Amino acid sequence: MHSATEKSEEAPNLRSRLYALPKVDLHRHLEGSLRLQTLAEIAQEHGIDLPSYDIKVLRPFVTAADEEPDFHRFLEKFRFLRRFYPTQEAVERIAYEAVADAAEDNVRYLELRFNPIAQARGQGFSLDEVTTWVCGAVDKAQREIDIRVNLIVQIGRDESLDTAWQVAEVAVAHRHRGVVGLDLAGDEVRYPARGFAEVFQWARREGLHITVHAGEAAGARSVQEAIELLGAQRIGHGIRTVEDSSVVRLVHEREVTLEVCPTSNLQTGVVRRLGQHPLIDLLALGLRATVNTDDPSVSDTTLTDEYEVAMLAMGLTLDHIKRAIVTAAEGSFQPPEEKEQMVEWFREALESENGSLSGLTSREVNDSVNSRSDRSPDC
Ligand SMILES: [Zn+2]
Repeated sequence: MHSATEKSEEAPNLRSRLYALPKVDLHRHLEGSLRLQTLAEIAQEHGIDLPSYDIKVLRPFVTAADEEPDFHRFLEKFRFLRRFYPTQEAVERIAYEAVADAAEDNVRYLELRFNPIAQARGQGFSLDEVTTWVCGAVDKAQREIDIRVNLIVQIGRDESLDTAWQVAEVAVAHRHRGVVGLDLAGDEVRYPARGFAEVFQWARREGLHITVHAGEAAGARSVQEAIELLGAQRIGHGIRTVEDSSVVRLVHEREVTLEVCPTSNLQTGVVRRLGQHPLIDLLALGLRATVNTDDPSVSDTTLTDEYEVAMLAMGLTLDHIKRAIVTAAEGSFQPPEEKEQMVEWFREALESENGSLSGLTSREVNDSVNSRSDRSPDC
């Protein structure tokens, strides 16, 4: 029999092990990564009208973590967050800090997505200007911090077709400055993807990769539409793929990577409890599912947190997490040679963590659950 002290020495602390893992985040929004402190400082400096400059008072305006789950209330946060890009310096600062915060969590490869309309509209900046500023800030961050970053330009589903074309053209024009992909995001129920098919097909021909938010608020058919009509190689969320076996087959056959973001799914009300999240089913079906943050500030999360809830509340093992990191590296929007090298790097780094990919035993997971009574497995 082991004493409790010996047992805890045997079972390495789960959280510190997850924190130490080299990570890949394929799905993180710049607009959802704004630090509260930065928001308050920018508002104060530029006289942006706020109920308070105290970050405790501002927190409910930014984060959905303390609210009843609701998809539209979640999207509403971004309307508030659009107000904090008054100058080039502010745009650059927010982009730089988003990269720094990811690196702080040991994210070693990041695909950061941003909506240039969010930064440009209302300030009188052009789409080209804000895209250049974001590219420049991310490039600077990469030179100063140990992280590799590529950018994805995002189009909102509620934008006009004319605007969508403008954003796509700006994205293509910046493909040699770090932009590697184009994304469609927003309300998939009211604005189906099919209206944007031509824009995305053109962008793909011009050399951009395609990811589309789908299978989140709308069902599996929305995933099918994104793949068949827009040429999506990855799907943002995609968790409702499980609802239709023909779409499961399609995702499998086309080797589409699913960018799953557990806490976001809970806060938008797409899943009622993390214990009911279908990530483990997607993995059991052999689909290429990955774990990502979506919006660290809005969801009040980190990638370490997402790995932790995936293990403590959704039934994943450490082995699943490590494999999901390798899957994410394989699904990254990089040139084939760079990607191959990166996949190999992650594989080796993760295998050398504790000697193998075998991961924690179920007893070690149980010990971690018991030692973190603040986080219910059914949350
Ligand atoms: Zn997203």
